[in-house]
Amino acid sequence: MAHLVVTGGSRGIGAAVCRLAGARGWAVTVNYRDDAAAAEATAVAVRAAGGEARTVRGDVTREAEVVGLFESAAAALGPVTHVVANAGIVAPASKLADMTAERMARVVEVNVTGTLLTAREAARRLSRARGGPGGALVIVSSMASRLGSPNEYVDYAASKGALDALTLGLARELAPEGVRVNAVRPGLIETEIHASGGAPDRAARLGATTPIGRAGTVGEVAEAVLWLLSDAASYTTGAFIDVSGGR
Ligand code: NDP
Repeated sequence: MAHLVVTGGSRGIGAAVCRLAGARGWAVTVNYRDDAAAAEATAVAVRAAGGEARTVRGDVTREAEVVGLFESAAAALGPVTHVVANAGIVAPASKLADMTAERMARVVEVNVTGTLLTAREAARRLSRARGGPGGALVIVSSMASRLGSPNEYVDYAASKGALDALTLGLARELAPEGVRVNAVRPGLIETEIHASGGAPDRAARLGATTPIGRAGTVGEVAEAVLWLLSDAASYTTGAFIDVSGGR
């Protein structure tokens, strides 16, 4: 049976990925850091959709907690076969002049180091060279890596640019071991992340300026993620799907 681990699966895009995997009958480990109730609600939705689910707390920036996440996942639901490195943060919108080393370090710690640690544990579990089943990893990047997010989130954009490079490097490194690595780049998607960026209505407001004329939904991102994870994408690695309404 397919067993998917999703970091930051409690809310937003991660939760939508969990639910869609549940609808395909997969087992899903829903990781979260703070919001146990939201993670449990996602797990309930996964089961209602036809899958199996467990929640596991763990901060992706803490090396031991990431190792523990994968150990708990495998102990509860069997060998891990698919992973989505989704957990990410944005700091309140700021111009460059107001950015600090501390803020940059935090954004990089969660978005880049957290993804690297997740990818490392994923590879340890999946790699055929280490006795694993092979499998697929999807990294949740952002259109910010291509657009730069001037005047608001250049630090976040830079962290997502690092994820694009990580995707390319890991795809080549892990392909011989039977592990595919791809990324999705969402555009403006309606989730709570915009509130933490200081602009709760940002997706709705700016969505109208995209060629498709609206913000995207978490379900639309989840569809792209599930395709990249699936065997239908068996010859696709080191690739990017922009889910951005043409932005
Ligand atoms: P949300 O803020 O809605 O959800 C973020 C999730 O990440 C939560 O489940 C949160 O868990 C988890 N999380 C945050 N920090 C950590 C951590 N240190 N360890 C473990 N989990 C953590 O965000 P979105 O769903 O919008 O974003 C998901 C991903 O999509 C992010 O990588 C984001 O950058 C990316 N993205 C989003 C876009 C958008 O418009 N929404 C556009 C482009 C990319 P908890 O609250 O329980 O701590």
